[in-house]
Amino acid sequence: MISPGNQARFQKIVVIGWDGADWRLLGPWIAAGKLPTLARLVAEGAHGNLRSTIRPESSVAWASFSTGVNPGKHGIFGFANRVQANSYETPLTNASSVRAIRFWDVLGRDRYKTGLLNIPYTYPPSPVNGYLVGGMLTPSAESDFTFPSALKKELIEEFGGYTTDVTGPQDDKAHLVENVRSFTTQQTSMALYLLRNKPWDFFNVVFVGPDRLQHFLWADTDTTHPQHDRSTHFSTELLAHYQDLDSALSLILQDLPADTLVLLISDHGFNGCSRKFFVNHWLHSKGLLALTYTSEIWTKATNLLNLLHRVPFLRAIRRKMGNSVPKLSDLRSTAFVNAIDWNHTKVFFGMDGGLRINLRGREPQGIVSPGSEYEALRHQLRQELESLVDQFTGQRVVSSAIFREEIYDGPYVELAPDIVIEPHREQPDFTHNYILDGSLRSSLTPIFDSSAPYSGNHAPNGILCAWGPGVRVGAMIEGAKIIDIAPTILGAMGCIVPSQMDGQVLDIFTPPISTQKSAEEFNTQNENSQIYSEKEADLVQQRLRDLGYL
Ligand SMILES: [Zn+2]
Repeated sequence: MISPGNQARFQKIVVIGWDGADWRLLGPWIAAGKLPTLARLVAEGAHGNLRSTIRPESSVAWASFSTGVNPGKHGIFGFANRVQANSYETPLTNASSVRAIRFWDVLGRDRYKTGLLNIPYTYPPSPVNGYLVGGMLTPSAESDFTFPSALKKELIEEFGGYTTDVTGPQDDKAHLVENVRSFTTQQTSMALYLLRNKPWDFFNVVFVGPDRLQHFLWADTDTTHPQHDRSTHFSTELLAHYQDLDSALSLILQDLPADTLVLLISDHGFNGCSRKFFVNHWLHSKGLLALTYTSEIWTKATNLLNLLHRVPFLRAIRRKMGNSVPKLSDLRSTAFVNAIDWNHTKVFFGMDGGLRINLRGREPQGIVSPGSEYEALRHQLRQELESLVDQFTGQRVVSSAIFREEIYDGPYVELAPDIVIEPHREQPDFTHNYILDGSLRSSLTPIFDSSAPYSGNHAPNGILCAWGPGVRVGAMIEGAKIIDIAPTILGAMGCIVPSQMDGQVLDIFTPPISTQKSAEEFNTQNENSQIYSEKEADLVQQRLRDLGYL
C-alpha cells in the first residue's frame, strides 16, 4: 500500500453509522445488558460524545462527516438549499451539491479500496476506488444508485430487489416499524455480502433506522414524555431496533480481520420534544413578512398536489394526467416564493432552516439596505428571538440566534441563512424543546403548537466509539467533533490530510497518531450541481416531507 508521508497505523478501517444515536438512550440499555456488542466495544475501546454540526441535521452533518469541513466549505445547509446567493429558490440537494473533497477520494488516491454502503449524500454516485451504493435521498431502485453501475444488477439479483430507504408515511407507526425492520435486514445482509465478496481496505455503512424511529416513537419509548400514552403498543420497538443493530454489529465484527479499526458514530444525538415554532408566522405577526393575496390559493394547490402523490387512488389519476400536472418539488418552492409579498417582506425563514434577510442587491426583490439597516435588523432579530417566550409554556423557545459568519467560514457562506436559529433541544422537560417549521399554511396557523406526531428531535451530541488494536482501552473521549472523523480516518491509514479540512486527528490512539496536513489544498469537486429528474425530485421530496424535513 502506498501511503504518502506517514506510516499507516491501520490497514483496515470499518465505520458504522447509527443515524441519530444518543448515549442518553444507549447508556441505560448497555447497563441493563440489552446491547451486549455495543457494551463490549465501549469496555474494550474508547468512547464519548461526537459533536454534530450547527445545525445538527442529517444533511449538514453527514456532509461534514465525509469532508471534514464546516458547512461554509461544503455548501450544504439543509436538504433544500440555496445554490445561488441571488435567488429565493431552494432546490433539493444531493451528492453533487457537496462542494468539498470527500475523505474516500483521498483514500482512493492512495490506492486504498473503499466500500461505501448507504451513506447519506452519496447519490448520484461518483467514481471511487472500490464501490459505492447510494444512500439516503436515492430516489428509487430504478435510479443508477451504484458505482460501478453493474453492481446494481448484481445486488438486485442477489437480494431479489432493492429498497433505497425507509419509505412511506412515517406517522403510521406500525408501517414505520415494519419498514425500518425490513430495510435494516437488507442493509445488514448487504453489508455482510459486500464485506465477504468485494475487496476493501475501508468500509462504511450507515443505518438510518434510529433517526426514523426516534422522530415518531420517542413518546412511546419514554414514559416521562408529555405525549406518552400508557396504552401504546410501541413502547419497546425502539429498543428492539437497537438490538437488531447490535446483532448486525456482532455479525460484522465476526467477519473482520483482527487488526481492523472500528468506529461507531452518529451524525447527531436525539432528545424528546413536544412543541413546534412556526417561524414565518411569527415574522408575519411582527409585520416583517407579508403574504400575497394568492398565498392561500398557492397553499391549497400544493396540498392538492400533495394528495395526488400520497393517496394511491389519486396517484393513478395523476399518472394518467401525465405532464399536465406540475412537478411537486417545483410547485412547493414556487408556492413559497409566490405566497410571499417580497416588496413588503424584510426577512423570511427558508427551507434551509434559517432566517434570510431580503437584502437589496442580493435577493431578487430585496428591500433591506446593506450595511447599517441589515446589521440593525439582524441584531433586533437576534435579541427578539433569544427572548421569545411561548405563552403556552411560559418558556423561552430559542437557545441561540447565530450570525452565519460566527459559525461558518469558507467560499459558500454566502449560501447560508443570515441568521441560524437553534431552538431549545436539551431541556429536561420535553415541553420546552422545539422543532422549527417554516410552513406558510394559512394565516390562521398559530405561532406555537404541539409538535405531534413528532415527539423526538435532533440534539447536538452524537456518539463515537472507537475499537481496535492501539485504541486507548476504556478511554473517555472529550471534545470530539464530527469534522474530526475524516482526518482521523486519513491519519490512521497514513494518508495526508488535506489542508482545508477543519477537523483534527482524534486523540484516541496509543501511541497518538500525529499527522501533517498537506501544504496545498486538494481540488474541490462538484462545482456544478446535477439536479434530480422530475420524477426523482418528486420521490425524494415526498420522502423528506414524510419525515417532516420540508
Ligand atoms: Zn441524522
